Amino acid sequence: MKIAILSRNRKLYSTRRLIEAAEERGHTVKVIDILRCYMNIASHKPMVYFRGEPMDDFDAVIPRIGASVTFYGTAVLRQFEMMGVYPLNESVALTRSRDKLRSLQLLSRRGIGLPVTGFANKPDDVKEVIKLVGGAPVVVKLLEGTQGIGVVLAETDKAAESVMEGFMGLKANILVQEFIKEAGGSDIRCLVVGGKVVAAMKRQGAAGEFRSNLHRGGTASLIRITPEERSTAVRAANIMGLNLAGVDLLRSNHGPVVMEVNSSPGLEGIEYASEKDVAGIIIKFIEAQAKPGKTATKGKG
Ligand code: ADP
Ligand code: MG
Repeated sequence: MKIAILSRNRKLYSTRRLIEAAEERGHTVKVIDILRCYMNIASHKPMVYFRGEPMDDFDAVIPRIGASVTFYGTAVLRQFEMMGVYPLNESVALTRSRDKLRSLQLLSRRGIGLPVTGFANKPDDVKEVIKLVGGAPVVVKLLEGTQGIGVVLAETDKAAESVMEGFMGLKANILVQEFIKEAGGSDIRCLVVGGKVVAAMKRQGAAGEFRSNLHRGGTASLIRITPEERSTAVRAANIMGLNLAGVDLLRSNHGPVVMEVNSSPGLEGIEYASEKDVAGIIIKFIEAQAKPGKTATKGKG
């Protein structure tokens, strides 16, 4: 097969591992920097061009689109879908997952356990919405934050109000959430490929840090997940429509709650902690799925 990886940097661990795994299995791989792509949208023959060349004979495309380039990245991915290339994750699913509020709404509609979460638009409603989620301590989050940036723990109602008003003053969209204290600064990342949890790890935040993100100094270790956690992760990925997903769970007093679903999960921590060839599993999944024209949306998102 010919596989395109949409990534800005071929040296990143996840990109490198996917190239390696695909080449080991006899495929040809091209890494395409989405920001260097241009597209022909109007004609009957949609096309993506990269450095002057038409990107016209790929069987599958693996999006590794950073949060800061979601808009253009999903547009390029959609264009590949219109050309009939099989996407590991579809552009619509990717767009959905990048908006925390939209994701939580979709998951709640299907009865997935979530931290109690509130959302408001006007500073006038801040006090009420903090009360709605049970009062301090609460976690305030930027809707489009990533890697723990824009996630704040407010220990008192007053602190929560100031933080929320501050973000609102900057015209940022935020949500406020019940703080799951019993998680003890740790969470569980379940890596789902094609409707199965293929690896899981526990992430523990650095001392004095409630955020477990590896980018914030968290550490990863192997963990055995319960059947309930496994089925929650699989259901969450399915609801989001993601073939590849990093589903983050917190162990709360009221069972596993989904914190977020990542559509471009990093492979380094999880391969290291689980000692599994996750990149190989992803490539095998693509081999089983990819046939020309097999994208379900045909770029309709
Ligand atoms: P990001 O997209 O920036 O990673 P997350 O929603 O995953 O944002 O939050 C970052 C980290 O903060 C999580 O990995 C978790 O450790 C901690 N965290 C987030 N929300 C909560 C919560 N409601 N209760 C307890 N810890 C939380
Ligand atoms: Mg996270």
